[in-house]
Amino acid sequence: MYLRELTQSVSALKGAGPSVCARLARLGVYTVADLLLRAPRAYEDRSRAVPFREALRTGLPANTVGVVTAHDWFGYGRTRTLKILVDDGTAVAALVCFNRAFLADRHPVGSRSRVTGNLALRFNELQAASFEIEAAAEGQGPEAGVLPVYPLTDGLAQGTVRKLAARALAEYGRRVEDEVPVRIRELRGLPPKARALEDLHAPGDPEAAEHALRALAYEELFYLQVLVRRRAAARAERPADRSAGPPARAGLRPRLLERLPFRLTADQEKVAAEIAADMEKPRPMARLLQGDVGSGKTLVAFLAALKAVESGGQAALMAPTELLARQHAQTAARLLEPLGVRLAFLTGNLRDASRRPLLAALAAGEVDFVLGTHALFSEDVEYRRLALAIVDEQHRFGVLQRLALSRKGGAPDLLMMTATPIPRTLALTVYGDLEVSTIRTMPPGRKPVVTHLARHGNEAKVYEFVRKELTEGRQAYFVYPLISGSEAGSLKDAEAMARHLAEEVYPGIPGGLIHSRLPDEEKRSVMEAFTRGGLRYLVATSVVEVGVDVAAATCMVVEHAERFGLAALHQLRGRVGRSEAQSYCFLVYSRDLSEEGKRRLKAMKETTDGFALAEEDLRIRGPGEIAGIAQSGSLRLAFADPVRDADLLETARLDAAGIVDRDPGLLEPEHRVIREVLDRANPFPAESSGA
Ligand code: ADP
Ligand code: MG
Repeated sequence: MYLRELTQSVSALKGAGPSVCARLARLGVYTVADLLLRAPRAYEDRSRAVPFREALRTGLPANTVGVVTAHDWFGYGRTRTLKILVDDGTAVAALVCFNRAFLADRHPVGSRSRVTGNLALRFNELQAASFEIEAAAEGQGPEAGVLPVYPLTDGLAQGTVRKLAARALAEYGRRVEDEVPVRIRELRGLPPKARALEDLHAPGDPEAAEHALRALAYEELFYLQVLVRRRAAARAERPADRSAGPPARAGLRPRLLERLPFRLTADQEKVAAEIAADMEKPRPMARLLQGDVGSGKTLVAFLAALKAVESGGQAALMAPTELLARQHAQTAARLLEPLGVRLAFLTGNLRDASRRPLLAALAAGEVDFVLGTHALFSEDVEYRRLALAIVDEQHRFGVLQRLALSRKGGAPDLLMMTATPIPRTLALTVYGDLEVSTIRTMPPGRKPVVTHLARHGNEAKVYEFVRKELTEGRQAYFVYPLISGSEAGSLKDAEAMARHLAEEVYPGIPGGLIHSRLPDEEKRSVMEAFTRGGLRYLVATSVVEVGVDVAAATCMVVEHAERFGLAALHQLRGRVGRSEAQSYCFLVYSRDLSEEGKRRLKAMKETTDGFALAEEDLRIRGPGEIAGIAQSGSLRLAFADPVRDADLLETARLDAAGIVDRDPGLLEPEHRVIREVLDRANPFPAESSGA
């Protein structure tokens, strides 16, 4: 029986009544398998006795057995508190039982108890405020092996989870079969799965637990890599359509370059060449283009689109927001229309009357390059000959759209762009089937944005600074976490601040307001006025986070900055520093700052390097949430951390490659689970339908 087949409810275990089950459900534990996959967050080594005296001397947690010598009470009324005095033969310790008066009955004077906990000398008394105590039988010593410490939720006791996990292990866990092919498991010196589960929940020593965790992590990474490898193989099996299409239009790319007021950077040239070479190979391209905000990815995308058009195909560029899609369409109109490229703009908001002719034109091949939102790939959109699909800010899209897109019109080349650089290890994990191109350098003349942190209450100084920039002809953004007033009124919001800035702070200086709830027409006109410079500052929510490109803007003010994630802050800061003028980013934070919030702001102040920030983000948050991975569904890693376990990941990649490419025999019947994974991954998962 495979672990994932243990789908019986945890309520099947003795001791798991309705209230315990409800609490486990809050932790996402519904089945026996869920419980067995619940990794302890730590282990407590109680394999050795640590008497009170030794604990005091060494600072180690005590782990001892003693006799209850007295009950003391102190305080009055509701704060009346019990102290249990325990003598273990080396010293007497006072266990302070805050809100645990019930312990008096369980541990009467004269009874024997096992005690574990941290001790401190207070008021000349050896005290423990956080401790565990349980009745000890005559002759029972303190040695209790290594105990798992599980993550809990309100009202769920450590002891309860321990007992249930032990039962699940005894009744089911020991019968769990291996999933990783035995040959590979042995090659890598990994324990059988049943053994790993046992060592996870009831390890003989801390090393055994460590080993079990690595084995389980390896298994996850192995499946993931099998999947990724298989996806790559499936893609390689579908030939790209490279036949010459309708009358090709040569020379579009050189003509675009001629028209530009600047030269491509060396990195732009390099990645453009990589992409162009890919687009001539017999297999469809699947390439991720990484480049920090402002590094000039749009132009590279346009060059790729022109390459597609030159060979008689169509190109499509999908952006995550309407705002960004429109901006790209405008840039395309400016740069590409003069070359005779036929453009179209398609979003979900288009009315039927204008949508129908547009779809007809796309299907007839009368449009060369279409830009828009995910509407580009909805069911009813047909292409005459889609040669290239570009996804901008790809981390904003789920994997589903990525796949829906690659199924349009045979096997188009796929170019995904992201400004949230993904650390290499993670890129391999998730995008192991993609080639990666990276733009590292910025266009010349850019100065790093200067970042200042300001505490809430000191905004006036920030506003004054910005005023100077505004009067010197520069522009500014003010970003808030909310559109309109919060119930509690404790947060500033964009609407109120737009009024405040207009009336009190910058009277006479025209400013605008933009957020997702405004009608499209208004969004468009505000954005246009800001781009043209008629509006000097823009009050916004995070709608301006991705892609917005207004070169004259030199100030980015984010209030309640602690409410934004690191990736979002980096993206917001990327809205400025887009010209040769010095730019500034002000992060205004509130007093009650969490540890994490502090780390984020500190990181922002210390570096403008998106790669470094992404690594830091990963350290702060863990990998699960990063870069759209949370949406990817297939990646619910319980044990593995692709950054910490980079070595395991590499091993898993090798093993998976070996299996998928050379050793399909290992996939034969007994390895049902791998089969299932493969079926899901091949050729393009069925999950993309009905998305
Ligand atoms: P991102 O990579 O964040 O999408 P963009 O493509 O929006 O960046 O480019 C940022 C700005 O830099 C744009 O205004 C663009 O015109 C400009 N730009 C792009 N390439 C160059 C270059 N080689 N030299 C100077 N400016 C450039
Ligand atoms: Mg961009």
